Amino acid sequence: MGVKCNIACQYCYQHPQRDVEDKRKPYDMERMKKAILKEGQKFTLFGGEALMVPLEDLEELWSWGLEEFGVNSVQTNGSLITEEHIDLFIKYKVQVGVSMDGPDALNDVRWAGSLERTREHTQKSQWAIERMCAKGIPPAMIITLHKGNATADKLTEMDRWLMDLDTIGVNSVRLHLMEVESETLRETYHLSPEENLHALTHFHRLEKQMKQLRFDIFGEIKQLQNAEDHQVSCVWKACDPYTTAAVSGVEGEGQRSNCGRTNKEGIEFVKAPLPSYSRYIALYHTPQEAGGCKGCRFFSMCKGHCPGTSLEGDWRFRTEHCQVWKKMFELAEEEALAEGKTPLSQHPARPYLEKRLVEGWSRGQNYALQSLIRELAQKPQMATV
Ligand code: SF4
Ligand code: SF4
Repeated sequence: MGVKCNIACQYCYQHPQRDVEDKRKPYDMERMKKAILKEGQKFTLFGGEALMVPLEDLEELWSWGLEEFGVNSVQTNGSLITEEHIDLFIKYKVQVGVSMDGPDALNDVRWAGSLERTREHTQKSQWAIERMCAKGIPPAMIITLHKGNATADKLTEMDRWLMDLDTIGVNSVRLHLMEVESETLRETYHLSPEENLHALTHFHRLEKQMKQLRFDIFGEIKQLQNAEDHQVSCVWKACDPYTTAAVSGVEGEGQRSNCGRTNKEGIEFVKAPLPSYSRYIALYHTPQEAGGCKGCRFFSMCKGHCPGTSLEGDWRFRTEHCQVWKKMFELAEEEALAEGKTPLSQHPARPYLEKRLVEGWSRGQNYALQSLIRELAQKPQMATV
C-alpha cells in the first residue's frame, strides 16, 4: 500500500512522499514474494500503515512468511488491530511493533482528522497493546519524542504510562528523536536539544525503576562505548543513503527500495547497486563548524548518525541531533569511568580504529568495531601505526 495510512501523524517523515503520490499503489502478491525471496531474508510489513492490507492478504503473506522464514513481523500504529489480527499474529508468529507516542492527549500528534477520531484511534491502539500483552505477545514499541509528549510538564504522565506498559509486559521501547521535514513542523513540534536531553536523561533514570521495560537507545550507547557494535541499530553503522543496508525494501510491484527516511522532498531514489561511504569519509575530515564531525572523540561510534536526520535534510552533513548524541555519549563515558572501565572514547586505540574505519570506507568496506578490536588484539603493534 506504499505510504498510505489511516491516520496522519503531523510529523510523519513520509508526508512529502504522499504529497507527490496521487493514487493508491497496487500490489501484486506473487511479485512481492518473488522479490522477497531474491532478498533472501525474513521480512517486516511496513507502511504507511501496513494493516490497511485486507486480512486475507495478510494471512496469505504471513502463512507464506512462516513457511519460508519461520517468523514474521509488522510495524503498525496499532489502531486497526482487531481480535482477528491478534489471532493471526499468534498463528503465524508475527512479531508486532507498535508506534505510539503516549496515552490520550500525549498521542494527539498522531492525528486522525479530528480530535474525537484521534482520541478514538489512540484508545484502539492502547486496547491492542493491552490485549496483545494479555495474550502473551507483548509488542515492541516506538515512541517519537516531541513537544506533544516530552516537554518537562508532560513527563510525569509519560512515566505513569510507561510504568503501566512495564507492568503489563512490554519490554522493549525505541525512543526516536523527531525527524523534521519542514520548518513549520520544527516550530510546532520539535524539541530543542536541551528538551530532548532532559527527556532522554529522565527516561534513562526511569528505566532503572522498571521491571523489564528497556529503552534500546541507552543500552546501545553503552555497548558502543564498549566497542560492541554487532547488535546496535542502523543509525550507528555508517548507513549509505542510497543503499540503506538495514532496509532492503520491497514495494507492491516487487521493486526494490531504500529506507524512507532518506527520501526528501517526496523523491524515492532508486536503490544503488553498491554502497558508497563517501558521507562518512567526508564527515571524518570536515570540521564540525562546517557540518562535519572532525575531531569528535565519539566518531567511531556515532559516525554522524542517521543520514535521514542530517542537517538541512542533506545527507552530506552530520545529524542535526549531534548535540544530543554527544551529551549521551559523554554520560555513558562518565558511567564507564565511574565503573573503572575505559570507554572507547578515551581508549588509546581509538585513533587506530578511526583510521581503519576510514581506510575501509574508501575501499567500499564497512568494518564493525568488534572486528577491528579482534584485529588489534592479534597485532597489538598496529595500534601505534
Ligand atoms: S536512513 Fe537512518 S533509519 Fe534508515 S536505514 Fe539508514 S540509518 Fe537506519
Ligand atoms: S556526536 Fe556529533 S560530531 Fe560527534 S560523531 Fe556524532 S554527529 Fe558527529
